[in-house]
Amino acid sequence: MNFELSEEQKMIQEMARKFAEREIKPIAAELDRTHAHPADICAKMGELGLMGVTIPEEYGGAGMDYLCYALGVIEISKACASCGVIMSVCNSLYDFPVYAYGTEEQKQKFLRPVAGGEALGCYGLTEAGAGSDPAKMLTTAVLQGDEWVINGTKRFITNGNVANYCVLAAITDRAAGYKGISSFVVDLRNTPGFHVGKVEEKLGICASGTAELVFEDARIPAENLLGKPGEGFKQMLTTLDGGRIGIASQAIGIGRATLEESVEYSKTREQFNQPISNFQAIQWKLADMATQLDAAELLVLRAAWHETHKKPYEKESAMAKLLASDTAMWAAVEGVQILGGYGYCKEYPMERHMRDAKITQIYEGTNEIMRLVIARNLLKNR
Ligand SMILES: Cc1cc2nc3c(=O)[nH]c(=O)nc-3n(C[C@H](O)[C@H](O)[C@H](O)COP(=O)(O)OP(=O)(O)OC[C@H]3O[C@@H](n4cnc5c(N)ncnc54)[C@H](O)[C@@H]3O)c2cc1C
Repeated sequence: MNFELSEEQKMIQEMARKFAEREIKPIAAELDRTHAHPADICAKMGELGLMGVTIPEEYGGAGMDYLCYALGVIEISKACASCGVIMSVCNSLYDFPVYAYGTEEQKQKFLRPVAGGEALGCYGLTEAGAGSDPAKMLTTAVLQGDEWVINGTKRFITNGNVANYCVLAAITDRAAGYKGISSFVVDLRNTPGFHVGKVEEKLGICASGTAELVFEDARIPAENLLGKPGEGFKQMLTTLDGGRIGIASQAIGIGRATLEESVEYSKTREQFNQPISNFQAIQWKLADMATQLDAAELLVLRAAWHETHKKPYEKESAMAKLLASDTAMWAAVEGVQILGGYGYCKEYPMERHMRDAKITQIYEGTNEIMRLVIARNLLKNR
């Protein structure tokens, strides 16, 4: 077994780390406070190849492996979890399904701009009544002549208020249940009948837009169907398996930031005439944080390795997301405790890490759903 990263993996890790430290970290608190969409950062991430890490160069991407992608998301999220999820959604939830299921024409038209960093993508699955159980969606797509007519409202869509394109799930045959779900690519800027609805006010990842997508007799060309009618649910399961590696990486980035800042603070903060790092109570917190974060990161990298080597990774990505998100949340709470009253105040980034970490236990499948996925894998074939 080899724990050494390849030269390419080290290169993207280093590049993303330097970029994040230089250009994202200094403005992360301001982005969180103003809830501003980081358009300039997105454009620069695009220029650096971070919006299409695993997509071949012929479609605008960087042509690297899934480990490179995970390492990139970790570094960006360490500086700013909002930027981390924007990157993750573009790569895993938009680029991946268009690359995996799109025609050559769809890839040239819809993948190239997002993977190349000139446009943003989003993924429209969740609805008000269909969260953990997406098969309960109500949005429909009906073929009329050479157009699909879409009706329905998607909820909680990351990048929904700023994206140019969306991979959208809708029902094309209600009687067929989950086998009647299909997916489409929608040009959100050029679709009559579409508008952005409510933009959510949230606890964390405040610089990442979360919006409703409203379709009222919205018309898209017939050729915007991804794959065949009825394949949407299967495509969604595979897409989310990869997406969970992205979110697990986001969680590791947040956790790494809490640990680094906790170590630094504990060495400089003095109480009882000595640095608080002299107290065993603080040392044990730091040791536990480091150990749990390493364990979680190894699961994340294992899942990414499985993807890279075309091995099944549904269980591995669910395990990675479960442990990484729980670890990030727990580490951030410990981080706030280590900083005492300063951890609770906005003068330090620790309270932001705590708010940002929470979402990683919820989106792209809650951690209760992750346990269902893991258990289903353990119990099948028995
Ligand atoms: C900030 C943010 C960004 C998001 N981005 C996107 C996006 O880009 N695209 C998109 O399509 N969606 C997105 N979502 C939606 C997200 O994936 C869902 O919120 C999530 O899957 C949970 O669905 P729900 O909120 O409806 O909760 P519910 O499904 O109503 O769950 C409520 C509670 O019940 C539990 N529960 C539900 N079913 C079971 C079960 N069978 N067994 C045990 N417990 C269960 C859940 O774990 C949870 O604790 C986003 C959400 C947020 C908040």
